[in-house]
Amino acid sequence: MTNRVMPTYARLPVVFEKGQGPWLWDQQGKRYLDAVSGVAVCGLGHAHPELQAALADQAGKLVHCSNLYRVDLQERLATELAEAAGMDNVFFCNSGAEANEAALKLARKYGHSKGIAEPAVIVMEGSFHGRTLATLSATGNPKVQDGFEPLVSGFIRVPYNDVAAVERIDNPSVVAILVEPVQGEGGVKIPAPDYLARLRTLCDLRGWLLMLDEVQTGIGRTGSLFAYQQAGILPDVCSLAKALGNGVPIGACLARGVAAGQLTAGKHGSTFGGNPLACRAALTVLKVVRDQSLCARATELGARIAEGLKQKLAGVPGIVEIRNQGLMIGVELDHACGELVNRALDEGLLINVTAERTIRLLPPLILKNEEADLLVSQLAGIVSGYCGARAAQATEAA
Ligand SMILES: *Cc1c(COP(=O)(O)O)cnc(C)c1O
Repeated sequence: MTNRVMPTYARLPVVFEKGQGPWLWDQQGKRYLDAVSGVAVCGLGHAHPELQAALADQAGKLVHCSNLYRVDLQERLATELAEAAGMDNVFFCNSGAEANEAALKLARKYGHSKGIAEPAVIVMEGSFHGRTLATLSATGNPKVQDGFEPLVSGFIRVPYNDVAAVERIDNPSVVAILVEPVQGEGGVKIPAPDYLARLRTLCDLRGWLLMLDEVQTGIGRTGSLFAYQQAGILPDVCSLAKALGNGVPIGACLARGVAAGQLTAGKHGSTFGGNPLACRAALTVLKVVRDQSLCARATELGARIAEGLKQKLAGVPGIVEIRNQGLMIGVELDHACGELVNRALDEGLLINVTAERTIRLLPPLILKNEEADLLVSQLAGIVSGYCGARAAQATEAA
């Protein structure tokens, strides 16, 4: 049969049929431990009973309601998010790219309000912000941009985790910084602990908006509901998506202070954005994360997994670093290791490799200790076997 899905992904040869917690089953009934969570989406795991019940109930009441009208669940979610985040208001959309698109539009509007005709936004090398034209232009990865020129203008790029490089920018058109608290696609890059606070200070000094892309880091993943809470600061703008709906598409752009007043009637919109079903999903996710203290659990599990991997992989050749912030875990090797994804798949373990040589783990926050330990031993076995064989080959060749 011809596959008529546009080939925008190099997909792995597996079709999943159902899930339960951190487990997935393929069409042949083989079971997999999911250490990717649909790329940081299913923080509550698969088929979470509370979410299942909430969605079924909501589907029987109201799935969609145009933004021509007030939407009660949207207003409730906006209040919960804003209060939890220390922000003022929220624009709802359907994805991370759209949340960042809203942030970028907001920043330009802010610039124009200050009389800046061509507002510019500072962005980082190695960043990922999405696949729309504006967000791929903001993204610091030439592969994402290649073939889609002309790019959207108005971005100034600097190295990640380098405050001095931002300080050196002397350009009156700058209106904002857009940055990830931890770079996910960029290879699980964790900046210095004071990075965000120093950017905050600089933004205050220069009248720039600090815009945090928390699409991957948000909703407990790094050990707090929002990663910036660990830096003790508030952003002006914060984008969310991935884990917010645990798989029901929803994105959000949160704003505070002057930023909250930029997008007024007629300036932005989305047909599906903030529909009752998606908002019900997000409200349920926030409730479960709170009720089950999943942020603290992410910290605990992240430490357990990272420590376990450090112990089991000690002395294995080819391993550069094992790092984590909560349940964003990276195992960096000294060479491209994409083939590990297939090896793990064979053994019933779902992992991801990003930035070519970093194994990225984004397991669900509901993992049990035994499951975390199983993940560690399974992955350590695969990686040490692979790295050991590679080192032996290199010795033979020499
Ligand atoms: C995944 C991701 C996006 C894009 O989200 P989509 O929902 O795929 O549009 C943007 N920023 C970051 C940091 C991401 O990880």
